[in-house]
Amino acid sequence: MADRYLSFTATAPGRFLTRRLGLPQPAALTRWSPERPALDGGLRHLTAGRSGLDLAPVLARTGIGPAGSDRAAAVVLDATGVRDVEGLAEVHAALHPVVRSVIPSGRVVLLGAPLDPAHHHQAAAQQALEGFTRSLGKEIGRGRTVNLVRLTDASAAESTLRFLLSPKSAYVSGQVIEVGSGDEPATLLDRDRPLAGRTALVTGAARGIGEAVAETLARDGARVVVLDVPQAEQDARRVADRLGGTALLLDITAADAGTRIAEALPDGLDLLIHNAGITRDRRLVNMPAERWIPVLEVNLASVLRTTDALLKAGTLNRGGRIVATASIAGIAGNAGQTNYGASKAGIVGLVRSLAPRALAEHGVTVNAVAPGFIETKMTAAVPLFIREAGRRMNSLAQGGLPADVAETTAWLAHPASGAVNGQVVRVCGQSLLGA
Ligand code: NAD
Repeated sequence: MADRYLSFTATAPGRFLTRRLGLPQPAALTRWSPERPALDGGLRHLTAGRSGLDLAPVLARTGIGPAGSDRAAAVVLDATGVRDVEGLAEVHAALHPVVRSVIPSGRVVLLGAPLDPAHHHQAAAQQALEGFTRSLGKEIGRGRTVNLVRLTDASAAESTLRFLLSPKSAYVSGQVIEVGSGDEPATLLDRDRPLAGRTALVTGAARGIGEAVAETLARDGARVVVLDVPQAEQDARRVADRLGGTALLLDITAADAGTRIAEALPDGLDLLIHNAGITRDRRLVNMPAERWIPVLEVNLASVLRTTDALLKAGTLNRGGRIVATASIAGIAGNAGQTNYGASKAGIVGLVRSLAPRALAEHGVTVNAVAPGFIETKMTAAVPLFIREAGRRMNSLAQGGLPADVAETTAWLAHPASGAVNGQVVRVCGQSLLGA
C-alpha cells in the first residue's frame, strides 16, 4: 500500500502546505541498497565522562571515515563513563553543538554502561541516558535516528554498531540495546556474505515480512527454507525458487511441526526465525473463543512448541540464533487485540526467560523483533483512518517496510551478534505507543 502522503510531502507544494498546516513532515528514509551500502558521510566520535572502552579500532572497522567540521552522517557519543549529574552535563556539552550538523537520515548512537546496583548516582546518570535518547529521537526529525547501546566490551558490540551506523537501521529509533561481552570477532567474517554456510528457516515466509526476511538472509549468504501453510504453496515455492532455497509446506500449529522440521533438516539448522503470525481482532466483549484460540496458537503456542522440540532434538546448531516476532501491540496493548497483544507479550516473556539458558546450554541466542506499523497486506487491511494514524504516530511519521524488520533480523542472526541475547528490539520508527 503506497504512502501517498509521504510522496506528497516530498514535493515543494506538499512541503509548503503541510508545514503551514502543522502536519507531520516525514522524510524519505535512506535505506540500504547495493548501490548505497553505507551512510553518506563521516563519523564524529565524542566522549563524555572518563571512558575505559577501546572504541576507536571498532569504529575504524565500520569503514566510515571521520566527519568534517560542518556535517556528519553519524555521531557516536561514548557516555559509558558518565557516573553523575556532572557527567550528564558533558553529554549536553558534547551533543548540543553537533546535532544540527547531522545529515538527514543520519545516526546518533549513545553508548552507556550497565546500571550499577551498588552506586545509585551512576545508575541515575546512566538511566538518564535513556530518557535523553528517547527525547532526542522524538525531536531530531529529518529521518535521523537516535539509539542507546549499553555495553562493557566494544568489540563484542561491533556487529551492533555496524548495524546502527548503516542504512540498514533506517526505521530503528529510540531503542535501548544491551550487549554482553565476548564472542566471535566480526573481523574474521566475510563482510558481504556473513551467513554463508548457514541454514535459515523462516516461518510464514511466502509473503510480507517473512518473505523480506528470507530474501535478506539469502542476500547475506544463508540457505533459506521458506515455511508456510499448504494453501500458500504457490507463493512459498515462488519465493524459495527466487532465493535458491526450498519450500516447506507445513501448518506451524501442527502438533508434530517440530519433528517434521527436524526431519526436513538432517544437517541441522542455524537460524530459526519465528515470523508466522495472524490477527483476529475484536474487542474482548465480542470475542468468541474461535477468535482467541487460533491467534494464541499461531503466534505463541507454536513458537514455544517448535522451539522446545528443535532445541531438544539438537537440530539447532551451536552458534545458532532464534529470532521471534513480537509487536508493539504486545508492549503497549491495542484496543481490539487482547488476543494478539497477549500472544505477542508472551513472545517477550519467552525471549527474556529462555535467552540465558539457551545460550548456556545450546550456544544459541534468543531475541525478538517487535515491529510497529509495517506496510504489508496485514496493515493494508486496516481501515483507512486507523491505518493513517498508525503510520504517522511515530518519530519518523511513516510506516516501516518489511525490509526494515528483515535487516534487524539479519543483524540479530549475524554470527558476530552472539553477545546480543534476550533483547526485544522494536522496529517501529520510535512509535509513540508504549514508550
Ligand atoms: P502477513 O499476513 O502478510 O504474512 C504472514 C504469513 O504467515 C503468511 O504467509 C501466512 O500464510 C503465514 N502463516 C499464517 N499462519 C501460519 C501457520 N499456521 N503456519 C505457517 N505459516 C502461517 O503478515 P506480516 O505483516 O508479514 O507479519 C509477519 C509477522 O510480523 C507476524 O508475526 C505479525 O504478527 C508481525 N507483525 C506485523 C506487523 C505489521 O505491521 N505488518 C506489525 C507487528 C508485528
